[in-house]
Amino acid sequence: MDLSTKVEYIPKIGITYAKKLKKFGIKTVQDLLFYFPTRYDDFSKIIPISEARQKLKETVCVQGVITEIRNIKTFRKRMTITEAVVEDQKSHINVIWFNQPYLAKTLKEDDFVCLAGKVSLGKEGLYLNNPAYEKINEFGKNEYLTHTGRIVPVYSETRGLTSRWLRYVIKPLLYRFAEQVPESLPFEIIRKFKFLPVNEALWQLHFPDSFEHADAAKARFSFEELFLIQLNVLKEKIKLMQKKSPACPMDAGLMKKFTSSLPFKLTDSQKKSAFQILKDLEKTVPMSRLLEGDVGSGKTVVATMAALNVVKGNHPASAQKGYGEAKQVAFMAPTEILAKQHFKSISELLSGFDVHIGLLTSKNARICEPRAHNIVSNIVSSGLPQTFEVSKKSLLEGTQNGQADIIIGTHSLIQKGVEFKNLALVVLDEQHRFGVEQRAKLTRGKKLIPHLLSMTATPIPRTLALTVYGDLDLSLISEMPKNRKKVKTIIVNPNQRQQAYDFIEKEAKEGKGVFVICPKIESKKPNSLNSTDAPEKAVAFSGAFIPKNYNLKSLAMLEVKAVKDEYERLSTKIFPDLRITMLHGKMKAKEKEKIMIDFRNGEIDILVSTSVVEVGVDVPRATIMMIEGAERFGLAQLHQFRGRVGRSDVQSYCFLFTTSPDQLNRKRLKALVASNNGFELAQKDLEIRGPGSLYGTQQWGLPDMAMQGLSNIFLVEKTRAAAKEILEKDPTLEHYPLLRERLKQFERRIHFE
Ligand code: ADP
Ligand code: MG
Repeated sequence: MDLSTKVEYIPKIGITYAKKLKKFGIKTVQDLLFYFPTRYDDFSKIIPISEARQKLKETVCVQGVITEIRNIKTFRKRMTITEAVVEDQKSHINVIWFNQPYLAKTLKEDDFVCLAGKVSLGKEGLYLNNPAYEKINEFGKNEYLTHTGRIVPVYSETRGLTSRWLRYVIKPLLYRFAEQVPESLPFEIIRKFKFLPVNEALWQLHFPDSFEHADAAKARFSFEELFLIQLNVLKEKIKLMQKKSPACPMDAGLMKKFTSSLPFKLTDSQKKSAFQILKDLEKTVPMSRLLEGDVGSGKTVVATMAALNVVKGNHPASAQKGYGEAKQVAFMAPTEILAKQHFKSISELLSGFDVHIGLLTSKNARICEPRAHNIVSNIVSSGLPQTFEVSKKSLLEGTQNGQADIIIGTHSLIQKGVEFKNLALVVLDEQHRFGVEQRAKLTRGKKLIPHLLSMTATPIPRTLALTVYGDLDLSLISEMPKNRKKVKTIIVNPNQRQQAYDFIEKEAKEGKGVFVICPKIESKKPNSLNSTDAPEKAVAFSGAFIPKNYNLKSLAMLEVKAVKDEYERLSTKIFPDLRITMLHGKMKAKEKEKIMIDFRNGEIDILVSTSVVEVGVDVPRATIMMIEGAERFGLAQLHQFRGRVGRSDVQSYCFLFTTSPDQLNRKRLKALVASNNGFELAQKDLEIRGPGSLYGTQQWGLPDMAMQGLSNIFLVEKTRAAAKEILEKDPTLEHYPLLRERLKQFERRIHFE
């Protein structure tokens, strides 16, 4: 047997348990050694039984001989109680276990035991309540103890896998295999940061000698995981730097013409971001830029400028480098609704610029032809650009032969069958990630790869920006357009409900749009180190992460139900005179689109919805956001909801309906009332709820230790510097074969988006 031995071949585990372990991604001995405890019980102080009296209601650990043990059945409650008496040199104490009848067989009179449990007081005096137990040979020898008499590891438990069982299995494996685990951290790093070697760290993480030792072990593994993330990200960056993209020199005249065609003035932040992007586009080094700006800060206009410059800029022939004249832009949105919205607004923004714009979604294809070529323009009477339904085939042809300049769509843009003639820029809305490979795929073997502009309204705290997005340059839109009024945010307690409803009704009757967001259906939250709740998530290092689509299906169904219920309630009981419609993820795209259009046009007063409206939807007439069960959402997400309103110069309101008297939740909601700054709120969430609250982190499948590390900026900076240093010396990690192997394993497991 060795580290790669499959767990089913370990006698104590066998097929049945191996299956359970597999659910956490634990397949081998090594995986199991890297399955880390989420917290510890401190049973390290062993006291004489005579001192138990002073420790009423505390958890203590005692050692002694069993002088009596027997099972008693309580017929009324159908319960078995195991009663025992344990005695040391000076004193004795009663012990009670519930519903573990086998104990009377496992533990016998004259057995020597170590017990850890709560001292309780019953009719017959003091007793130890349901203690953890283990048989021992002599007093006080901690190293032989596994479940008591020491700092005891507690693992994230799931049905059929108890911490006791895991300790029982893992400890002998540590004895046998810990020494064999290869040290993948470079020696110079271990020395520089005085880390525990991996073998020792594994022992100290599972069975620590002290909490200091456990912390030291954690520090090592946190560092290692973040270090691997950094290596992964920086390696991608190095790979990218070796590629080339088409240079698109800035056409200042065209940009001026565009900005003066807008019905508003760009904010300074917009100008600055646009300039950074246009400067990047001039180079043959592929751009990888993240444009970050709060909801409504006007990212689309900035992206549109970049797109216009790429497709219509007057690029001198010298800069063409093998590319034909015209260049194309792909614009990807996360949903069909948003793709259509972008299509519409970009068509409007570029209506005077002779640009052919296509919309490609899974079902439809549309084009917006420049006015000059518009054959049916005599039908158009409004000043708005005309768009046409076309066959998918003809749009794909236009994409391939270069007639279509900007192609907007969902993920369908990167599917097979979509060929660009000369794609120079990809704009991603709210999708964050796009690897070198994906980019290369888009241009299918051509020498040049497109520049990349990723846009997000998610405020990304600095630590995250440096890790998960460490390969992207950042542009920030830090101010809102001047005509906006700050959204008034109000926490509504149960007794103020009616008042809020009255207000909402009045506003709706004046023609203002109302969003109602239904409470989030809670999934089991991933566990975090040192917390006792949430049993579902495996905490593992090289082993297991939350399954990506964990239970998502049933959650979606519950959300639909919540929307239907709320819709019923509002339309029959609360606002019977208003026009109410619901919107949820299970609806057909066409249906959703129609609803959004009706809502936008004022044919619907109230839209009851799940969190699908969260990203990007633009309905300027909507001025009321009403969130049920507000305490269930993260601050960043609530902030996103709030950003759906306040998109015009009319005063908007955000009502946070809550039933939770929980202080922590109130604190969070108050933070939302107080602050209008997404970064601040993300940081607050991080402080109040821990790193699990960070928007998106669940999806990445980041291992737990790395997640914890993310709240520590010093650690993040250290790992980044260390990774840089190593890669500068040795970009392919040729001299670090173990590290390279480790990185490969790691990359298979994380999935950034
Ligand atoms: P984001 O994508 O950042 O959430 P959008 O680009 O959708 O924001 O912009 C929101 C709205 O604000 C749009 O209707 C847009 O036309 C408008 N807008 C953008 N920039 C400005 C500005 N500088 N002044 C006034 N309105 C603006
Ligand atoms: Mg947007």
